[in-house]
Amino acid sequence: MTHYLSLSTPKLFRIRVPNPYFEKDNNAYLLDVSELILIDTGIDTPEALSSLRAGVEASDHQLEEISKIFLTHKHLDHFGLAHRIAEVSRAKVYIHQDDHLDVERFDERHDTINNLYEQKMREWGIPQNLIDMLSMRSRLIELGRSVSAISLRDDERISVGVSELRVIHTPGHTQGSACFLLGDLLFAGDHMLPTYTPNIGATEVTSNGMLRKYRASLHKIEELNSIRVLPGHGDEILNPRERIQEILIHHKGREDRILEILSDGRTRSVFEIAQELFGNLREHHVLLGSGEVHAHLEGLLDEKRVHVRDNLYFLVAAKGLH
Ligand SMILES: [Zn+2]
Ligand SMILES: [Zn+2]
Repeated sequence: MTHYLSLSTPKLFRIRVPNPYFEKDNNAYLLDVSELILIDTGIDTPEALSSLRAGVEASDHQLEEISKIFLTHKHLDHFGLAHRIAEVSRAKVYIHQDDHLDVERFDERHDTINNLYEQKMREWGIPQNLIDMLSMRSRLIELGRSVSAISLRDDERISVGVSELRVIHTPGHTQGSACFLLGDLLFAGDHMLPTYTPNIGATEVTSNGMLRKYRASLHKIEELNSIRVLPGHGDEILNPRERIQEILIHHKGREDRILEILSDGRTRSVFEIAQELFGNLREHHVLLGSGEVHAHLEGLLDEKRVHVRDNLYFLVAAKGLH
């Protein structure tokens, strides 16, 4: 199996890092711009580390030469290996300030984050036995470690070798998600993906209004001209503007379906709506699906199209029918 792909720019390499746990393989991008930089790392497993090492060596370099690591966001599959690479290379690690704490204090914050998740899941009406079964974070904690990192701000420019990397803050998937622009290359992390839409609402428990922020962040990318979009999973997005429209239409369709489900006038929890929308949810999809529905309901609440009482949602138009 090829571990890397040399993209059209000869000094850019995409390294596929295996991830059998969630979201499939990750892309780590290696750039030789008279210094060696890495965008995202993959999870912390021996297999992921050896794939990353093999990919770097296939591009005639060594892991030890990497001088800067840029992380698109705080998820394990994007930062998990950062501590190991930083240890052997002494590379500086960068992440947007809004995701900084969760990465730099990942180990210590585990319990706090886990409690926040459980609280959210209870509010969403997920049955306790499913919440207990999930205990996702405790299973996944092995896939990453705290790493000390430098905080980035929106529009900050970091010099990398002969070039400059621009930070574009794109909150939505997480509060501190950022894309990195280097020449015409946009490293998009999970902000835009080629074949499925990134989860909005379930993978960020410390901020609200993620869908509204996400839409605004998509428009921010729409304004950039002639860019090549390189995502955190899958292949290059060949027509970014078209993809943005597809994602916006997808979200609109989902919102319409939620309103349709509520149109019978009954009150429902977030979880009940998610079950009707997605069918019988299993494993971590219980959390992802419910979070996604909640993100839509937040928007509909803002627009005063739905109401909520005791964590049960109902259509404004159907008020008084139940
Ligand atoms: Zn992610
Ligand atoms: Zn991801």
